[in-house]
Amino acid sequence: MRRACHRRCVDAGVPEGARMPLSVTEQHRSSERTLIRTAAGVSWRFEHFGAVAYVGDRDDFFAIDQPHAKLLVIAQQSAGGWVSGTDADRAATLAALGIVQTTPATPQRAHLGRSLVGDFVGLPELSAPLVLNCFSTAHCPLRCVYCHADDLMVPFRDGEGWADMRRVLSTAARVPAMVAVVTGGDPIVAPQRAAWLLGRLAGDKRLVLDTSGAGDVGPLLPALRRHRVHVRVSLDSSDRAVNDRARPINPRYLPRGTSSSSAAHETLRRLAQAQVAHSVQTVVGRHNDDLDALRRMRDHLLSIGVRHWVLHVAVPAGKAERRPEVLPGWDVVDRLRTLVAECATAGPLDIRVTGTHREPNAVLLVDPRGQLCVQRPHGPGKEVLWADGDTDQAGLLERLRQRVDWAGHASRYLNGTLEPAPQRMPALSR
Ligand code: SF4
Repeated sequence: MRRACHRRCVDAGVPEGARMPLSVTEQHRSSERTLIRTAAGVSWRFEHFGAVAYVGDRDDFFAIDQPHAKLLVIAQQSAGGWVSGTDADRAATLAALGIVQTTPATPQRAHLGRSLVGDFVGLPELSAPLVLNCFSTAHCPLRCVYCHADDLMVPFRDGEGWADMRRVLSTAARVPAMVAVVTGGDPIVAPQRAAWLLGRLAGDKRLVLDTSGAGDVGPLLPALRRHRVHVRVSLDSSDRAVNDRARPINPRYLPRGTSSSSAAHETLRRLAQAQVAHSVQTVVGRHNDDLDALRRMRDHLLSIGVRHWVLHVAVPAGKAERRPEVLPGWDVVDRLRTLVAECATAGPLDIRVTGTHREPNAVLLVDPRGQLCVQRPHGPGKEVLWADGDTDQAGLLERLRQRVDWAGHASRYLNGTLEPAPQRMPALSR
């Protein structure tokens, strides 16, 4: 019992002096050695506070304090390394989040709160971006009522060519982000372009692919498996009619009567069958911001075997900028906090919530022509930080420093929208 309490304190990031102490026998057990190795699909980099790690299978970032970061160095030795005592407890904390592997094995658990491991006062400052979104096409089979990317799609569709792909790649290489998200538009309508981009980005970034799922994911599967890509499939409601009203198909790309909900479910089924790591992402707007609807969605995701869920509060950008009636109620974050707190006991669901409506210039985008953009903090449209032909790398980094809301960027990817959730998480098993 005492040991379980101690472990929960460690998992919750309680400072060492304030944890439930171990008995003499338990201290002896704690001194048993644990083998720690880097987990597959995990990247990390040093930061002034310790390190930041990205766990590809979960599509989760974690900020890690220095005592825990020290273990990442040990874990990356070719045969791993042995630790004991407090470090064995720290190793178990990292392993429960999928950041390292231990022998004896530590089961993974869901994570719902801020993505912090160890002792932190608030979210830390980052030295460089975490995520860069890269357009692989301006085409999309849907016409979502709130589409944030609308202004980056429609004007760019005519004349889309391969030269644009090379510009996207060239710009992406200049931004020192850990993760590249291949997005659009929807990569599912242009699988050759998406596979080309994934193959070239894989050299220095971990990869995510965003899709509506409204199409044939089959041609993408080989590249998704080869490059260990995490796929996020969009689904807004367990109610097919609600989802399809908010996310109607574009008859230019799909037969009339096609359900975006059914198509997304089929894509999720095929990803699971192909053992490609995946999540569901949900845009929370006026159509689905009711707490009971969100609870039904949570239960639905658990019932179909989804274990990772990202909720994005709809942002007044793109189409939603011109249609404020699609945005959620003012208290949406409070409702999401309630939902997530309840999820701690509902089942093994990893949840991240983004609140970019409060910090619009926190997301980096490479548009379909290879321009680096950020949403303007005030007023409509995107601001171009880097255009084709620029060669001033130092100028680019300075513009990034000045124009991007870095606290918002950290919050978006380290689950800063929510207060820490209870740590009583079910094991993350399928
Ligand atoms: S799937 Fe994404 S890019 Fe396509 S219309 Fe919907 S929100 Fe916009």
